[in-house]
Amino acid sequence: MKAAALFEKKPVISFEVFPPKPNTPIESIYQTLDSLKDLKPDFISVTYGAGGSQAGASTCEICQTIQSKHNIPAIAHLPCINETKESVLEKLEDFREKGIENILALRGDKSPDKEPKTDFKHASELISFIRQNGSFDIAAACYPEGHPEAPDLDTDIMHLKEKVDAGASHLISQLFYNNHDFYSFCEKLVQKGINVPVEAGIMPVTSKKSIERMVSLCGASIPNRLAKLMARYSGDPASLKAAGLEYAIMQIIELIENGADGIHIYTMNNPDVARYIMEQIKE
Ligand code: FAD
Repeated sequence: MKAAALFEKKPVISFEVFPPKPNTPIESIYQTLDSLKDLKPDFISVTYGAGGSQAGASTCEICQTIQSKHNIPAIAHLPCINETKESVLEKLEDFREKGIENILALRGDKSPDKEPKTDFKHASELISFIRQNGSFDIAAACYPEGHPEAPDLDTDIMHLKEKVDAGASHLISQLFYNNHDFYSFCEKLVQKGINVPVEAGIMPVTSKKSIERMVSLCGASIPNRLAKLMARYSGDPASLKAAGLEYAIMQIIELIENGADGIHIYTMNNPDVARYIMEQIKE
């Protein structure tokens, strides 16, 4: 099923998982999916490590399992920074063979250790290329606080429009912790003529280490209320996790009340966290 059709029903609730890390048994992701399926997300997206070819194969296989075993639509992430046109064509062929119809087209992060390939400079070029080479439904990433490399939010939104004009049918946002950033971002998109559905990316704070790592990677800001919770429970991991989950639930409920097109939950392959959130937001 093409993901765009899911937005006829609002809000779409989706999950993100990642392929097992090299030192984690391959079965772990299948156990995670077995647990996630009962939560009935509208789709599950599977990341692809821009730096590794091994992860790419698993992204495709995991998407196939999500669809054929669990009957849930899957979206395969595809970063292009280390790809050539030939290698993308091979991946598209693999997706077609495995029945995968949805792609999240990305540039991928620049690595200081790896010179990027030159066929695709920006995600918009990948989107055009996929559009020319198949009938995939294409999603793209967006950044409510601006992409860290962009000089300002308006310039980033201008480039986001290029992705939508190239054929992205829906957007999934970077994680954020201040809903007002998301609301004002969505207003700007409408002003700039971007009218495709936008899912809000929510990553629950489950530990001090994980939040610090994510914030340093993506540059998301921490509002006072969350900073205070983190300071209060800094020596008490269990209470910090409980407070972090409550914060995510509060964010999601408010976003839904305010008409968000969808909520994309970064599950971090933790079905218990996803289950707790789903139970609370359905009440
Ligand atoms: P782009 O849209 O190409 O934008 C990157 C930067 O270039 C921005 O600053 C933009 O403003 C600028 N830009 C765009 N077009 C132009 C232009 N024509 N001229 C000048 N500047 C331009 N990474 C992975 O490796 N694997 C994953 O599975 C993955 N999943 C993700 C899922 C989500 C929901 C999100 C939000 C991010 C994900 N990422 C993933 C991270 C993503 O690859 C990085 O954020 C990356 O740095 C940018 O990717 P992009 O597709 O947004 O790039």
